Amino acid sequence: MQLYNTLSAKERAELIEKAGKDRLTLSFYKYHHIKNPQIFRNHLFVTWDEMDVLGRIYIAREGINGQLSVPADNFRAFKEHLDSITFLKDVRLNIAIEHDDKSFLKLKVKVRNKIVADGLNDDTFDVTDKGVHVDAEKFNELIEDPDTILVDMRNHYESEIGHFKNAITPDVDTFRDSLPIIEEDLKEHKEDKKLVMYCTGGIRCEKASAYFKHKGFKDVYQLEGGIIEYTRQVKGKDLENKFIGKNFVFDERRAERISEDIIAHCHQCGKPCDTHVNCANEACHLLFIQCEECAEKMNRCCSEACMEVVALPYEEQKALRKGKYKSNNIFKKGRSEVLKFKG
Ligand SMILES: [Zn+2]
Ligand SMILES: [Zn+2]
Repeated sequence: MQLYNTLSAKERAELIEKAGKDRLTLSFYKYHHIKNPQIFRNHLFVTWDEMDVLGRIYIAREGINGQLSVPADNFRAFKEHLDSITFLKDVRLNIAIEHDDKSFLKLKVKVRNKIVADGLNDDTFDVTDKGVHVDAEKFNELIEDPDTILVDMRNHYESEIGHFKNAITPDVDTFRDSLPIIEEDLKEHKEDKKLVMYCTGGIRCEKASAYFKHKGFKDVYQLEGGIIEYTRQVKGKDLENKFIGKNFVFDERRAERISEDIIAHCHQCGKPCDTHVNCANEACHLLFIQCEECAEKMNRCCSEACMEVVALPYEEQKALRKGKYKSNNIFKKGRSEVLKFKG
């Protein structure tokens, strides 16, 4: 029985190209007590590998969180299989609006301690005591209410390229950092305001809403299914779209355009731009926003220092990286001294 990938990403990309079949990019999560994550993991890998499902799935004792790419032809079989697992029956699938057939190139099913690396200590509060879930229509209504405070639960590099109008977008690098900061900023309003929050697919709000309720916020709401589901409902039900810019996503596509507004700037020249790239110097790999012109001028690098590195023969680059394990960790995502226009 094959329990792991045998194809490289490159071989996989070629196969997908050859097959020429449509794939659906989707995500889902569920908090549920899983007794033996490893056995469950193997079961999913074997079943999904046969269906040619690709993606990144985390399984923990607290539940499952997955982002996948499923061949359209196999979607029905995939859904039937999900429904055959009691706690995943009718789980909401967030289906991406822009389809990229190469959004994932491998099937990775990993057992982890948590399904989201949130750095929170679960014992301090009850994760199941979460906020009120609202759909797009109710959300639109709520955020027009003057007694509402709207908070973006994502990180700075995500909200930088797109967010809801009038949302508070904390300048944070991690989810864990954001919670105490938001609590401090809003502590005067624990009882007199409605706290409404959103994130990409809803999973971060599951924990955040429970956290804020635990901290004494009385009226807590969360956008069910996050921006992904909101966009789907806005289109399907012809509602007013209140999200501006792009929705940052964690796969090869990097973002989905939701409105035509470009709210960010090239970090190198400052002109309007909302295209995230990673620095071409593999040892750096900094995530930042770069326009086409700067990409050309800078050879897809974040700095002159990185341009010098990528100009070296590959073997020399490799030698340079030696002994500097994960040197890119010195950079925070989307932040670096070398970027003049990082807002
Ligand atoms: Zn530029
Ligand atoms: Zn760089």
